[in-house]
Amino acid sequence: MQTLISVENARLIVLDAVRVQPVETIDFDASPGRTLAEDIVSQDDIPPFANSAMDGFALLAEDVAGGVASLEVIDDIPAGAVPSREVTRGTCARIMTGAPVPAGANAIAPVEWTEALPDGRVRIKRAPAPGMHVRPAGQDARRGQRMMASGEVVTPPGIGMLATLGYARVAVRKAPVVAVIATGDELLHPSEPLTPGRIRNSSGYALCAQVAAAGGEPLPPLLARDTADSIRLVIQQALVADVLVFSGGVSVGDYDLVKQQLDEAGMELLFWKVKQRPGNPLAFGLLQGKPVFGLPGNPVSSAMCFEQYVRPALARMLGRTTLTRPRHPAILAADTAKVPGLHFFSRGVARYEADGRLTVRDTGSQASNLYSSVLAANCIIHLPESWAEAKAGTQVEIEWLTW
Ligand code: AMP
Ligand code: MG
Repeated sequence: MQTLISVENARLIVLDAVRVQPVETIDFDASPGRTLAEDIVSQDDIPPFANSAMDGFALLAEDVAGGVASLEVIDDIPAGAVPSREVTRGTCARIMTGAPVPAGANAIAPVEWTEALPDGRVRIKRAPAPGMHVRPAGQDARRGQRMMASGEVVTPPGIGMLATLGYARVAVRKAPVVAVIATGDELLHPSEPLTPGRIRNSSGYALCAQVAAAGGEPLPPLLARDTADSIRLVIQQALVADVLVFSGGVSVGDYDLVKQQLDEAGMELLFWKVKQRPGNPLAFGLLQGKPVFGLPGNPVSSAMCFEQYVRPALARMLGRTTLTRPRHPAILAADTAKVPGLHFFSRGVARYEADGRLTVRDTGSQASNLYSSVLAANCIIHLPESWAEAKAGTQVEIEWLTW
């Protein structure tokens, strides 16, 4: 077991300990955020047939080479229909956007370029170039073409592509099921009125929401009291999940029994205490091969530790290759608290100034019990361990808090 390690080391230990989830096949429309476990290959040309890009008339461009022509209308082809006749010299077919271009036709004159004649024919007043407004078959995807690769995250456009290609079921990495366990005799359910000495369980619920936002599947939050029995029981309940996230009970207080009970349950503790603020007493280990995070109970600490360690671990389990959010250089607009020897995850508000510079200031007091400092933040300001201070004008790195 390592202790008082650096942020970088702690993240390496966490990422090294987690494994990519097994594969499952699910309905394609349930797959946003999941990682593909198969290549997505087009079984057809897409579009499957040449079709019209405009409402208008399908014709032979040569017929209008002179600039105008009056043509006999031999067919009417709405979207979804199949043309019944071939277009030959002197004829055309009324056609709607998306409808198959009939045999013989090689261009579409948009309806705006035409005029219906009293005898039923149509007058084409401008000449479309050959191929104009015809969307060729296979322009979007070729039969046999790989359109998405195993390992890619399914995005909303990915859902559109899966639907286009007829992938009704798709092989993806399973979402990790996460048990969040709040601990503390002081905790009330959010629906309960405040009573002396008690506060509402906020970390448990915030962490479940963070799990969902990170692509995991949270179980309803569990609650343990500060007794060995209660914690022992909840550990057994939580072991149905793939990942266990405790909030509270990892510091050195008298009632901090979580570590002790996890130890008795057989957890291999990999580290305890990281040189960071907030979240110094963070603990991490493996129980029955499952990652177990012991986050400090303070809501700010648990929120930040989740973003820095649990989120990347879930990303790896989901099969993603990008595990952490990108960081961007920004200029501190005001002094912010810093001491040497601890990496700070300060909550900040960043914005682009009129001159294009990205500036950031903290959200006020960074005390780890003030959840409003998280709510107000749009970014995390990273202040490296070695820095003794963080003065206005200094360049820092920020991580946008895109939930
Ligand atoms: P602990 O890590 O258990 O020593 O808790 C540190 C601080 O966080 C204490 O002030 C607790 O009351 C508070 N706390 C612990 N768990 C929660 C929770 N689930 N929701 C809100 N506050 C909590
Ligand atoms: Mg506690």
